[in-house]
Amino acid sequence: MAVLEFQGVWVEYGDKIVLEKVDLGIEEGAFVSIVGPSGAGKSTFLRLALGQEAPSRGSIRLDGEPLRAEPGPDRGVVFQRYSVFPHMSALQNVVFGLECARAPVIGRLFGAARRAAREEAAALLAHVGLGDALCVYPRELSGGMQQRLAIAQALIRRPRILLLDEPFGALDPGVRLDMHVLISELWREHGLTILMVTHDIKEAFKLGTRVLAFDKRRRDPQAPHRYGSTAVYDFPLDDKQRAAMAVSA
Ligand code: ADP
Repeated sequence: MAVLEFQGVWVEYGDKIVLEKVDLGIEEGAFVSIVGPSGAGKSTFLRLALGQEAPSRGSIRLDGEPLRAEPGPDRGVVFQRYSVFPHMSALQNVVFGLECARAPVIGRLFGAARRAAREEAAALLAHVGLGDALCVYPRELSGGMQQRLAIAQALIRRPRILLLDEPFGALDPGVRLDMHVLISELWREHGLTILMVTHDIKEAFKLGTRVLAFDKRRRDPQAPHRYGSTAVYDFPLDDKQRAAMAVSA
């Protein structure tokens, strides 16, 4: 069964149509790469899945139930930059996610609950390769390490669905390859469903079990916003195809 289902989804801002008639089912455990030109509505699509934004028309279902227009703990998100809080150490950044979940009113845990949260966060940070950087502030971390921290921050609440908006776009090629290994491992170990927007077509085919290309099906040169984008291509990939991409990437 599809964990996320988009049915006849449109997003309009005034007379500007961004997405039109998006009909898609996302299977549990899929790693969906999303590509397309700038402005094709890829980030808007992720915001819909996160519940940060509601469609102008159509419906989105999570496990068959209407998705509430607010981010839930079952969905985590990592952006290209600025996902983490600069004034908190790596450990504090990850503990804070647990505090918000477990003490939503005051956003702080005390005593044994706080110690347990710190242990849990430290274990996850070690798992993503930041075991030696618990007390380090984001500005002192390299770009790749900041993204490892952002991933740990997103995963600490044990989301089932992870939304990644160009998470490796600002990283050097070598660091990107390390991040590919990390995200593939975490996807398998945590049984995650991942939706990842990327500009890198090789990355899309290497990591994804399915690649969606968003673009407009029709254009009006006199009125560029008259028509919106939708998933114009939908490629399922088997393990053999993905392995071939991994070798050439
Ligand atoms: P992509 O991620 O594919 O580059 P986006 O989803 O960021 O595309 O944006 C798609 C289009 O929607 C762009 O033209 C952008 O300007 C427009 N857009 C996004 N959010 C808003 C908004 N809140 N109000 C008006 N237009 C918006």
